[in-house]
Amino acid sequence: MAICSGTLVVQGRKLGHLYVAQDITSDRLKLNSMVGSLLIATILAIALITVAIALYVRRSLEPVRQISQHAGAISAADLGKARVQLDCAPSEVRELARTLDIMLSRLSESWEQQRQFVSNVSHELRTPLTIVAGYVQSTLRRGANLTEPQREALATAAGEADRTIQLLQDLLELARADSGHIHFQLEVVMLNDLLSEVVGMARQYSNRQIILSADKGSHEVVADCNRLKQVLLNLIDNAVKYSDPDKPVTVKLDRQGSQVLIAVCDTGCGIPLPDQTRIFERFYRVDETRARATGGTGLGLSIVKTLVEGMGGRVTVLSKLGKGSTFTVWLPAQSAP
Ligand code: ADP
Repeated sequence: MAICSGTLVVQGRKLGHLYVAQDITSDRLKLNSMVGSLLIATILAIALITVAIALYVRRSLEPVRQISQHAGAISAADLGKARVQLDCAPSEVRELARTLDIMLSRLSESWEQQRQFVSNVSHELRTPLTIVAGYVQSTLRRGANLTEPQREALATAAGEADRTIQLLQDLLELARADSGHIHFQLEVVMLNDLLSEVVGMARQYSNRQIILSADKGSHEVVADCNRLKQVLLNLIDNAVKYSDPDKPVTVKLDRQGSQVLIAVCDTGCGIPLPDQTRIFERFYRVDETRARATGGTGLGLSIVKTLVEGMGGRVTVLSKLGKGSTFTVWLPAQSAP
């Protein structure tokens, strides 16, 4: 209700007060509804603009996300083939992708050169060192007139030469695997027979009690027979090296679902938990002084991992400090259970 008032004067005489009133309820309602509509329209507009901006930003950042995804998936193994591919992107982002591609190909080249260098050096050093080791050993064998200190010195030289030849051999093997030049002669392998043979060989050279425990079934996998022997001998050798001479080493053959597993178990010194994920790295050793005394190269487990993965399997470790370790090789079974 709107009211206006004033004094009512007629012919100079004040008669009283005059009040005029008008009903403005409908105008007020209209105004309120207009303000309400304007508010809703403003909120809707803000929401729409926000969604549009979010979509635009998302679309603009999509190529950057793609680059980050590509970069995250690149490993040393596929550095040579890795390229950042973008479907459609603003020119600045395409420029970034091109720069990344150039950087990747430079990285790949220097990685290849480094691999080639390791391979060449290993190859060049192995031959003369083998000759040196041969001469030292034949001098030791034929040296009837050698004094005891001379004999000891030659024996140390022969041992170190053998260790270095093994190290060069391992480096060559890994360099071949890195450059994809390692070939697997895959065939169906009867694991029961292979394990009997490997355990027999290990018993002979280690002079240790090695127990073979296999369930009744016969287990077949597709693998490279010689490479698999190399893997198992390596694991048994470690189990022998890192456990007491009077404790047995057990080799188990079993099946779990579609996988056949070969476990090499020892009750030796075990591996601390933080080291368990790192022992498959090249040259990683848990305890340098202990490892040096055992004469290893620190490359054995990385070769095991490379070979097993090359045959489509995987290798795992379960270990408790002071209780022992179990290294398990998992391979896809050839036949249904
Ligand atoms: P190495 O030639 O030194 O044995 P490996 O690559 O075979 O090199 O093993 C890496 C390290 O893992 C070893 O130095 C050792 O510390 C640890 N390791 C491997 N196998 C065992 C095991 N069965 N028990 C305890 N430690 C082990």
